[in-house]
Amino acid sequence: MSNLRFKAVEEAFKKKAVQVSAPDQLTSAYYGKNVFNKKQMTKYLSKETMKVLTAVIEKGETLDRELANHVAAGMKMWAIENGATHYTHWFQPLTEGTAEKHDSFIEYASIPGSPVIEEFSGKLLAQQEPDASSFPSGGIRNTFEARGYTAWDPSSPAFIVDDTLCIPTVFISYTGEALDYKTPLLKSLNAVDKAATEVCQYFDPSVKKVFSYLGWEQEYFLIDEGLYATRPDLVLTGRTLMGHESAKNQQLEDHYFGSVPTRVQAYMKDIEFEGYKYGIPLKTRHNEVAPNQFELAPIFGETNLAVDQNLLVMSIMKKVARRHGFRLLLHEKPFAGINGSGKHNNWSLGTDTGVGLLTPGKTPEENLQFITFVVNILLAVYKNNALLKASIMTAQNAHRLGANEAPPAIISVFLGTQISTVLDKLEASTSEQAIIMDPKQGMKLGIAKIPEVLLDNTDRNRTSPFAFTGNRFEFRAVGSSANCSSAMLTLNSIVAAQLIEFKKAVDAKIAKGESKEKAIFNVLKEYIKESKPIRFDGNGYSDEWKKEAEKRGLDCETSVPVIFDVYTNPESIKLFESVGVFSERELHARNEVKWETYTKKIQIEARVLGDLVMNHIIPIAIKYQSELLDNVYKMYQVYDKEQAAKLSAYDTSIIEEISERISVIKSKTEAMVEARKVANKIEEERAKAIEYHDKVQPYFDEIRYHVDKLELIVDDELWTLPKYRELLFVR
Ligand code: ADP
Ligand code: MG
Repeated sequence: MSNLRFKAVEEAFKKKAVQVSAPDQLTSAYYGKNVFNKKQMTKYLSKETMKVLTAVIEKGETLDRELANHVAAGMKMWAIENGATHYTHWFQPLTEGTAEKHDSFIEYASIPGSPVIEEFSGKLLAQQEPDASSFPSGGIRNTFEARGYTAWDPSSPAFIVDDTLCIPTVFISYTGEALDYKTPLLKSLNAVDKAATEVCQYFDPSVKKVFSYLGWEQEYFLIDEGLYATRPDLVLTGRTLMGHESAKNQQLEDHYFGSVPTRVQAYMKDIEFEGYKYGIPLKTRHNEVAPNQFELAPIFGETNLAVDQNLLVMSIMKKVARRHGFRLLLHEKPFAGINGSGKHNNWSLGTDTGVGLLTPGKTPEENLQFITFVVNILLAVYKNNALLKASIMTAQNAHRLGANEAPPAIISVFLGTQISTVLDKLEASTSEQAIIMDPKQGMKLGIAKIPEVLLDNTDRNRTSPFAFTGNRFEFRAVGSSANCSSAMLTLNSIVAAQLIEFKKAVDAKIAKGESKEKAIFNVLKEYIKESKPIRFDGNGYSDEWKKEAEKRGLDCETSVPVIFDVYTNPESIKLFESVGVFSERELHARNEVKWETYTKKIQIEARVLGDLVMNHIIPIAIKYQSELLDNVYKMYQVYDKEQAAKLSAYDTSIIEEISERISVIKSKTEAMVEARKVANKIEEERAKAIEYHDKVQPYFDEIRYHVDKLELIVDDELWTLPKYRELLFVR
């Protein structure tokens, strides 16, 4: 056992679970202790400050300087008492992940050289100007100007990580355009709140606010860190660019919900322990389908907070993995041939009166409201299926979609038989049949009673990209490494726009003298018809579906850079502007960033692949080939020609195969490098990304195919890169 690979495998096998000492307390006793939440605010802020701040948070108003000063003073006291020495504005640039720049609280009391004191003013809390020149802005912010600023989002509570007070902020250019995910997300939440509240008031005038809820399910892989270190492709790209399938992978389905390996169990406990300190309601943990794949999910919450918590959890997961001798893979498709990782976004709307708008109700009024929302969502998703797909599309996620239990790259909606039946019945009935006004009991719905509990697991379609699951929609196409905001702001925006249109249509009918119920019913009936093409409960992988989807006019584009085009078509611009989420300039700028990011990802992968084949794969294959040649040569020394030829037949066949494969690998790699050179000369981001997609990326699989074949024939002792069977089954 000569090479690093064997040492890494040996070490990994020897590793024991790290003991995590569970706190001697109930979870509820330390839950949220690192967060400046309501409980802490009441302790550290005056009653008056609390009152004004609460109003600011609830109404989404801006913060004035005096209030900011009061809040900053309380926050500083709390932070210092809890060990913080630094603070940072914590924001979500378009790079995915979060960004922070730490500053210490210290300031000179007066002139330089005088004693230092801890300072934290309202000005520092409310706004900061990070040297943001290197964050992607799609040309909005000239790099030399570097003028962007971050501003506190008071609806996201501040928290402490290690010694640093983190203040969730939006990140905006000086001319007001969003350079981040949080700004448009907040705008979309506002839009859907406004539009949905108005629709709710048809049914219950006491509704004053509608919340968007998100419950994410985070899938991930864990790899032993020693093995990870010997795979440059994992280190540099987050995924394996080569590796033959393991003889055993997920076909026995013995991993899903199986007993969690002890080293992993300890890791999960540790994440939960950390997460609870941040008030993240982590609820579920289990093995996923692929070997070494796992999932965790919290209890759902208000979308803005849930997004922050997901980002925080991803960073906790990364850090904690190191304590346990693991590396965390959040890439959507780290391994070919087995499941990739998604982040199902369970999404719903709910009122301030406690009604879930996607939960079938107990009364006919509630059920009409439920159907109203389901149907409007259906139509919104239908009209904007391309946009929704663009919102989840990345270079990484493209590898995941369309295989191994991931949804296909065509957006459709799964409703299940019960809701489908209700909609079919509604479509077939007249308003007189559907809405029966009973003089004594009020309104009756002449449709089949919607069962209260729809959470029937048999009626689930695991590969549907957008599925109704009883009291929410599950958007399953979202990728594991993504910032959920991209999907959530798009979904909330299209639903808001749709609800506005719905209200207009209903009001017009009412103005013409129709009763409110009948007007609603009649509009819904049209919508049910119109949105039919988006409903699909069958197998999303079949070729028939692809053909059918195309016939139905659903977006079937598969090229990632081309998919982004939909963001800037006239309908999307109109939609986003009408709900106040993006300006045209912002949409164009963000697409520039998307194309640039795409190009860079493919470019890095191409380079890593080229390096690996030239300095790992080919040299190893030649070494083995030379051993075989040596053997053949010796055969001819010992035996007569005829016998030697017979005895070395196997050797010669392998020698030839190696030569052939090496020559293909070499010529394809050279061609890939040439293709890259051509692409690199293109200035325009969109054209460049398309060139990378069309001309560079196709080489990846062609090269890999031959590398994986070599892995099968070359002496295992010589092979330097850990194989799938080791990466995935050693823990
Ligand atoms: P699954 O069976 O889909 O794997 P999980 O229990 O892993 O379900 O995750 C489901 C997620 O959906 C959880 O985060 C849960 O809190 C969330 N969820 C449940 N009800 C709602 C709802 N009404 N709105 C949004 N999210 C919800
Ligand atoms: Mg789950």
